[in-house]
Amino acid sequence: MPLWSQSLIPTLRENPQEAEIPSHTLMLRAGLIRRLSGGLYTFLPLGLRALRRVERIVREEMDAAGALEVLMPALQPRELWDRTGRYEAMGDVMFKVRDRQQRELVLGPTHEEVITELAAREINSYRGLPRTFYQIQNKFRDEIRPRFGLMRAKEFSMKDAYSFDLGWDEADASYQAMYNAYTRIFTRCGLRTRVVEADTGAMGGKWSHEFMVLAEAGEDGLVECEGCPYAANLERAERRAPDAPPPPQAAADGAAESPRDVETPGCKTIEQVSAFLRCEPARLIKTLIYTVNGRPAAVLVAGDRDLNEHKLARALETGDVALADDATIERVTGAPVGFAGPVGLDIPVYADQGLRGISGAAAGANRADTHVTGVSLDRDAAVTAYYDLAAVREGDRCPRCGGRLREKRGIEVGHVFKLGTRYSERLGALYLDEHGERKPMVMGCYGIGVTRTLQAVIEQSHDDKGIVWPAAVAPYPVVILDLDPSVPASAGAAARLAETLEARGIDVLVDDRDERPGIKFHDADLIGFPLRVVIGRRGLEQGKLEVKRRTEEKAEMVAIEAAAEAVAARIREWSGGVKE
Ligand SMILES: [Zn+2]
Repeated sequence: MPLWSQSLIPTLRENPQEAEIPSHTLMLRAGLIRRLSGGLYTFLPLGLRALRRVERIVREEMDAAGALEVLMPALQPRELWDRTGRYEAMGDVMFKVRDRQQRELVLGPTHEEVITELAAREINSYRGLPRTFYQIQNKFRDEIRPRFGLMRAKEFSMKDAYSFDLGWDEADASYQAMYNAYTRIFTRCGLRTRVVEADTGAMGGKWSHEFMVLAEAGEDGLVECEGCPYAANLERAERRAPDAPPPPQAAADGAAESPRDVETPGCKTIEQVSAFLRCEPARLIKTLIYTVNGRPAAVLVAGDRDLNEHKLARALETGDVALADDATIERVTGAPVGFAGPVGLDIPVYADQGLRGISGAAAGANRADTHVTGVSLDRDAAVTAYYDLAAVREGDRCPRCGGRLREKRGIEVGHVFKLGTRYSERLGALYLDEHGERKPMVMGCYGIGVTRTLQAVIEQSHDDKGIVWPAAVAPYPVVILDLDPSVPASAGAAARLAETLEARGIDVLVDDRDERPGIKFHDADLIGFPLRVVIGRRGLEQGKLEVKRRTEEKAEMVAIEAAAEAVAARIREWSGGVKE
């Protein structure tokens, strides 16, 4: 029978300074974790219990989906990462070490390389497919700014899974199976998640979805449609082009507008130019000079919009897009930084679709302290191509139905990718089909941030007193507060109830500390045990004890003999028929 007095549960009265968001504060205050140094945390007994319960749910659902558990090394030879080209692509986010023979190794931020190498060696025939493998293991990422506790840590627990299939259709089925398992996992953890379309980024691949926990403190932006199920990460989000560009303002002198240079001394920002020219920002053409695959190109968006670099990279089908340096900008525009414009440029010009057909617009004149007004983009500039490049924001129109898009914040807890054959081709994961033909396996990969999921549960489920654990992932679903532990009758009643509950498979913590009742009540609320049983002197005299849910205000008095069943009934209700 676990006793509070014998454990290590260092609750804190005050909010620790290091904590930035509610869940981080509460994990520290409830004595679940302690910080070792930036982005590194120790799990204390209660935190570890909760983590293990999340892991158990993940394991059960992965097993049920037919995935096979393996465990790969965290240390991986650099050579594998060179073969997929990701040693460079990952850059400084990867921890790099050397062994005593000076061989280079990395601490795995993910495991596509290792699992694909395994599949290449061990699976040779179509008879060995499909297979999905998974592991639960610590990953390492050298974050520039570790923060928010477990949300962005340097070492964290992840469940990663990888599917290998004969072809694309079969891979779709594996993807769907993982997608469905993820939905069940997060539901069982008590989380409300939103599935959004996401960018594939450094992972490569064709398609991906993220499972987001909606929360104010979330690091990721997303949009969702008010009129249809469309939802997307901001990196990925598309918008329907406006029906028509805004009507041109009449020229000051009433004449038909043609391009005209205007001196704009010292006006560099959109705000300055807009105010000086008395031109609304939407009618300014913001001209950004980029390098695309090492060559300069101009990228245009309306003055009131931001460029989404992820969308630019996707539209141009390259990972190599970056803002040009000042020297390049001056060379291709012939003007100091701040006065670039599309008219007269002899480099490729990519424009956001929202600018299509715009006239009477203003832009930089590619000359110091000068802008050009009266620009009709199609007439006056050589636009190479129009794409959807602008960052989507609240109020934009849904790409599917034209409805209004709403902006939200979220915490990414899961991510599923259709990878295709990128890794299997580079690492030789080929199989012989029924006709003896050699083909690359089609892959998918699937991640759940296990430690992050745990913290997301708290971020989504807490109140001003503390954590409100869903029973399925609480460190203990039940706490028994023994208010008079030095009184044998009280301690005896607590022990008997705890033993009866344990015999029914219900984990219980007994608060037997020599503390005032107020402190016990306070700590029980702070840690957030779903069910609290109080054994006190007055109740004992009447043969009763008190049972209360964390979410309820009022407690219920229950006869001692009936207490075990009363507790068990509530636990059953929570688990909703799910095997505990
Ligand atoms: Zn829609």
